[in-house]
Amino acid sequence: MSQTIQSVRGMNDILPEEAELWGMVEDTVRSWLKSYGYRPIRLPIVEPTPLFTRAIGAVTDIVEKEMYSFEDSLNGEQLTLRPEGTAGCARAAIQHNLAAQHPRRLYYMGPMFRHERPQKGRYRQFNQVGVESFGFVGPDIDAEQILMGARLWGDLGLDGVTLQINSLGQPDERASYRAELVAYFEQYADSLDEDARRRLHTNPLRILDSKNPAMQEMIAGAPQLMTHLGTDSMAHFEGLQRILRDLGQPCEINPRLVRGLDYYNLTVFEWVTDRLGAQGTICAGGRYDGLVEQLGGKPTPACGFAMGMERIVNLLRESGGEPEPELTDVYLVHQGGAASRLAARVAEGLRDQGIDVLFHCGGGSFKSQMKKADASGAAFAVIIGDDEAEAGEVTLKTLRAGQRGEQKRVAVDLAADAIMDFFDGDNA
Ligand code: ATP
Ligand code: MG
Repeated sequence: MSQTIQSVRGMNDILPEEAELWGMVEDTVRSWLKSYGYRPIRLPIVEPTPLFTRAIGAVTDIVEKEMYSFEDSLNGEQLTLRPEGTAGCARAAIQHNLAAQHPRRLYYMGPMFRHERPQKGRYRQFNQVGVESFGFVGPDIDAEQILMGARLWGDLGLDGVTLQINSLGQPDERASYRAELVAYFEQYADSLDEDARRRLHTNPLRILDSKNPAMQEMIAGAPQLMTHLGTDSMAHFEGLQRILRDLGQPCEINPRLVRGLDYYNLTVFEWVTDRLGAQGTICAGGRYDGLVEQLGGKPTPACGFAMGMERIVNLLRESGGEPEPELTDVYLVHQGGAASRLAARVAEGLRDQGIDVLFHCGGGSFKSQMKKADASGAAFAVIIGDDEAEAGEVTLKTLRAGQRGEQKRVAVDLAADAIMDFFDGDNA
C-alpha cells in the first residue's frame, strides 16, 4: 500500500463539527460589520511580491522569513501568497480609486499564509477578518474600530478580552526616538538575542516587540516613544482616549506595543486574552496614514485591524461558550418501491416549507434506518412504509429526549404543518 498524503505542516483541515462553529462566528461577524456600515471586498490570495516588501517593510518578520513566495513559471513574475490583507486592500483601493469620492469602510475574510513555526494559535495557513477604512483622519474612526471589537466580544459571548493601546507618532518622531533607543540597547549589546542584534541598526523598534522572555527585563527599562511625540500626535492620542473614556471602554496604555508591521503610525491597539497562552493577541490594528502614498496612491489617511479567526474560535471553545450547532429537522425513513418514490417527493415538499430534511439513502431495514435517524440529531423521523404510501400518509415520530417515541400519522399534505406546530410549541 502506498503511503497516504498528509496536509502541509501548519495548514489544517477544519472538519464539519468545527466548520459549523466557524460558520456561526462568521455569521455573527458579518452582521456586526454591517451594523457599523462596513462593506465586503474580496481580494486575491496571490499578489505581486513587491507589494508586500514595499508595504510591510523589508526588515520585518514577515518579509524576512515568513512569506511563501514563488516565481510564476509561465512569465517569471515574482508572486506571494498573501501574509496579511491590508497591503492588498490598499492596492485595490488605489487601483479602483475607491476613496476618491468619499471615505470607505471595508472588510474581508479569508486565509493568510506565513511560514512560521506552527504551535497552538500559530499556523502557516490561518484566517483573518480584516477591517479597513480609507479617507478618515481620526481619531473618531480609530475609536470606532476599537469599540467595534468590544461589541464583537460581547456578541460572541467572549469575556476577559482586554484592550491595549499606544501611539507610534509620526515617522519623524520615531526617527528621533530611534537614536535614543539604539543607544540604550547598545549598552546591553552582549545580552541581546540574535534577532535583536540584527535589528539594532535596521529596525530597533521591533526589538520592543520581542517575545523572548530573556529580553523582557531589558525591554521594560527601554526609553519610551511617547516622550518624543509632538503636539499633534499627542492631541490625536488624547482625542482617542477621550472617546474611549466617554464610552466607558477601559484600556491599558502599553508603551511597548509597536506591532509587527512597518506601516503603522499614530494609534496602534491590540485586544488580548490570557487564556490562550503565548498566542494571546486575538485582534490587532492601528492607523497607517502613509501606506497608500507609499504604494503610489494619493495621500489617504487609513486605519484598520485584523483578527485571527483560529484564536477566536479557540477562545470560544476555551471559555465553553460554543453554541450547539443545529443539525437537521427531519430524517426521512422509507422502505418499499412506492414508499420510496413518495418519500422523495415528501422530502422536497418539506424543504419547500423551509424544513431541513436528511433523506435516508442506501436502503436497509426500518430498524437500521431508525438507528441512523436517532444518531442524526434530527428532531423527527418521518416514516413512510407500504401502509403509509397506500394511504397517502406519513408517520411522524419525535426523536428528541423527553418526547422520544411519541408518534402520529397525518396526511402527506399536512406533514409540514404538523412539524411546524411542534417547533412552534417548542419555542413557546
Ligand atoms: P504575532 O505577534 O502573534 O505574531 P502579528 O503581529 O504577526 O502577531 P498581525 O500581523 O497583526 O499579527 O495579525 C493580526 C492577527 O492575526 C493576530 O493578532 C493574530 O490573531 C492573527 N495571526 C497572526 N499570525 C497568525 C498565525 N501565524 N496563526 C494564527 N493567527 C495569526
Ligand atoms: Mg507574527
